[in-house]
Order: sequence, then structure tokens, then C-alpha cells
Amino acid sequence: MTDRLLNLAQQPAARKILQNIGLPTPVALKRAKGAYADKPLAGEKAITGAAGKGYASATVGKTLQAAGAETVGSVDALGEEDKLDAVVFDATAVTSATDLRALYDFFNPLMGRIGKNARVVVITGLPEKGKDSAQSAAFRALEGFTKSLAKEIGKRGATANLFYLEKGAEDRLAMPLRFFLSGHSAYVDGQPVRITKTAKAPAETPLTGTLNGKVALVTGAARGIGAATAKRLAAEGAQVIGLDIPADEQALNETMASINGIGFPADVTDDATPKKIADFVLDQFGGVDIVVHNAGVTRDKTLAKMPEHHWDMVLGINLDAILKIDAALQAADAVREGGRIVCLSSIGGIAGNVGQTNYGATKSALIGYVAAEGPKHAAKGITVNAVAPGFIETRMTAEMPFTIREAGRRMNSMSQGGLPEDVAELICFLATPGAYGVTGNTVRVCGQSLVGA
Ligand code: NAD
Repeated sequence: MTDRLLNLAQQPAARKILQNIGLPTPVALKRAKGAYADKPLAGEKAITGAAGKGYASATVGKTLQAAGAETVGSVDALGEEDKLDAVVFDATAVTSATDLRALYDFFNPLMGRIGKNARVVVITGLPEKGKDSAQSAAFRALEGFTKSLAKEIGKRGATANLFYLEKGAEDRLAMPLRFFLSGHSAYVDGQPVRITKTAKAPAETPLTGTLNGKVALVTGAARGIGAATAKRLAAEGAQVIGLDIPADEQALNETMASINGIGFPADVTDDATPKKIADFVLDQFGGVDIVVHNAGVTRDKTLAKMPEHHWDMVLGINLDAILKIDAALQAADAVREGGRIVCLSSIGGIAGNVGQTNYGATKSALIGYVAAEGPKHAAKGITVNAVAPGFIETRMTAEMPFTIREAGRRMNSMSQGGLPEDVAELICFLATPGAYGVTGNTVRVCGQSLVGA
């Protein structure tokens, strides 16, 4: 659905009027299109900083260089009109509140030079692994810092995200940095992501054509976020199997035809479906590499008025079916080494919502599910994560009453809704071999929505 305010705000005269009457003037987000480039930061200006001698700095430098960024030594080296596109700060060496002063010293002089659609990544250690309470506090401080910074620069369409990087997991930084510093992560903002040594490393971590030779199953692939995900995974080289209900077979087949995908009409809640999926991927491909549990529904009613079948349907599709499909795939040993499982949670599962006790329960359950499943499959190099979309412009949100839709759209740091493609980008990143450091995480894609933050 068209966001008229966003379109208006792109015209300088209209933008002034909107500002004068106090309306938001969202910036058109610069989104990277298509597959990952070899040099995603080519032509971009980057700057790095650190508090002391952090363990991330060496990999950050190499990654920026390999991604094609031009790293400047200080803001003084920028031309008068130049702006920064990428800013990375290594705070893995902070040990106390005193050390946090380095954040002020680094960021204060460059805030005015952070450009439109720029990306900031701050890296620190795992708070629970601090050598003492003072260091744990200092690590955790970076979350409040980064989220606040994200709110200050969001109006420019710029983002700031935080990596909690386990010591010894530096080899796992490259792909996350490339994603979070590029236009592929345009709507992921204000998020902490844990990068750990948990999952076994893959033999190869290609930076382009990252999913060549991989087989991906996407449920609910006929439309919306599922269709966008199927297309994005295919653009990265995956053979996609798209599943959706038989009633939507035509839409499913159209989506699959556009990406040489395979349509798999089935209802995820049918008792026979989990085994059918496992048999199919084993027969046709000898297994599956990526499973995206996207099929989901809402049946909203306040709890007092909610009919039993609304509860059962939402729990059945959004939660029970996922666990059964995963169980069937595991029983058949159908998920290959280095596999990637991604579940669709929601900020509704983080914040809760009136009329969504059923939906909120399922989307919250998935956060617990991926946290528990991640470590279980780590020895096989399989990662299990969730993405939690905020307000995304889809059929579902287009049907909301005007005032609720407008509130949902604007209540985030970027004053605009996300697109299905933004969610697809985050799913695709988590599906890449290079994302092997990320498991058991739930990452929001919400433009730093105020809801549940
Ligand atoms: P959508 O309604 O456009 O698409 C969902 C797809 O799932 C449909 O094609 C539908 O036919 C399919 N599906 C439903 N029940 C099924 C079943 N029993 N078996 C097989 N397929 C089934 O929804 P969307 O907005 O693209 O949402 C996709 C996912 O993202 C959902 O899990 C949703 O909860 C989640 N999500 C969406 C938003 C948003 O703003 N749109 C926000 C947060 C989370």
C-alpha cells in the first residue's frame, strides 16, 4: 500500500511544509537490490574507532577493505561536503565505566558527518562473559548507547546496530559486518545481535552467490514476506521449494515460475505434511539446507470474545506445525550439515497486543524455541534463528483501520513501514553460510519500532 507521506516528503517544497506543521518527513531508504555484491561498500566512506585494543579491530579493518570501502583516518580527513557511510566502533576492550568515555570522544565530533542512509555498527563483548561485574556492566552499556544513537540518526534513514561478539569468534564477523553495513539491512535498526562460537564453522563462506547449490524450503511462499523471501534466496543461488495451501496453488505456482522454484501445495497443519516434506526433500535433493517457517495467520479477538477455533487455528499453524515439521526433518536426518532454520516471529510476540493472545503466544514461543534449538544442532553446524518483523507493508497491514495503520507506520526511528523485501533480506542473511556465528538469536526488522523496545 502506498505511503503518501513518504512520497510527499521526497519533494523539497512539500517536505518544508510537512516540517513546518510538525509532521514526520521520512527519508526514502536506500535499499541494496538483488544478490550480494563482491564489493558492497565500493565508493563509500568509512571510519573506525576503538576503546583500547579490542579483539574485533583487525577483522573490521580487513572486512572494510575487502568490501571496497574507503576508510578515513579521522573526520578531519573528510572533504567539507563529505559524509560518512559506515562507522564501526570496537568496544570489546572496555573494562569499566571510565572506558566508556572513548565512545563520547569518538562519536561526538563525527555525529554531524554521519550521512543519510549511513550504517553504524558497535561491537562489544558478551555481558555474561565479562571478567568481573564492572566489565559486564560496561559491555551491556553499549546496548543502551547504540539504541539511543540509532534513535538520533534514524531520521536520516541511518541505522545503528550492536554486535555482542564472543572472544574467539572474530572469524565470524565478516558476513554480519557486510550485511549490517550495506543497504541489504536498510530496515534493521537498533538491534543487538549475538555472534558466538556456538555452531561449527562451514568449510566455505562465499561472499557472493552465497546460496549456490543450496536447497531452501519456504512455507507460506505464495505471497507477502514468503514470496519475497523465496525470490531473495533464489537470487542468491538457492533452489527454492515453495509451500502454501492448495487453495493458493495458482499464486504459488506464479511465484515459483518466476524463480525456477518448485511449488509444494500443502497445509502445514495436515498430519501427513511433515513426513511428506521430509520424504520429498530426501527423494529429490538428498536433503534440505534452509528451512524458512514463514506460514502464519492472525485471528484477532480479545480473549473474552475469542472463539476456541481461533485459538486452535493460530496455535496450530504458527507454532505446532513448525515443531512437527522440524521434528520430521530431524527424524529423517534431512537437514544437511551447515543447515539454516529461520522462524518468523513478530514484535507482537515481544510486546503483546490487544486481541492477539493467541498470535502473541505463538510468536513469543518461537523466540524460546530458537534459543533452545540453536545449541542443540551446533555440532552439525546448523543454526536456528528467528526474525521479528515490525510494521511491514503487506496485505495484512493494508487492511488495518487508517489510524492504527498510521500509528504503526510512524512509531519507529525511520517514520515508515518496512517492505516484505526488508524481512527477506534479514532471512537471507541468516541463511548464508557466513552467518554461522549467529544462532539462537531473534533479530527484529522493524526500523527500531517503539513497540516492545
Ligand atoms: P500473508 O498472509 O501475506 O502470507 C502468509 C502465507 O502463509 C499465505 O500465502 C498463506 O496462504 C500461507 N499459509 C497460511 N496458513 C497456511 C497453512 N496452514 N499451510 C500453508 N500455508 C499457509 O502474511 P505475511 O504478512 O507475508 O506474513 C508472513 C509471516 O510473517 C507470518 O508468519 C506473519 O505472522 C509474520 N509477520 C508479518 C508481519 C507483517 O507486518 N506483515 C509482521 C510480523 C510478523
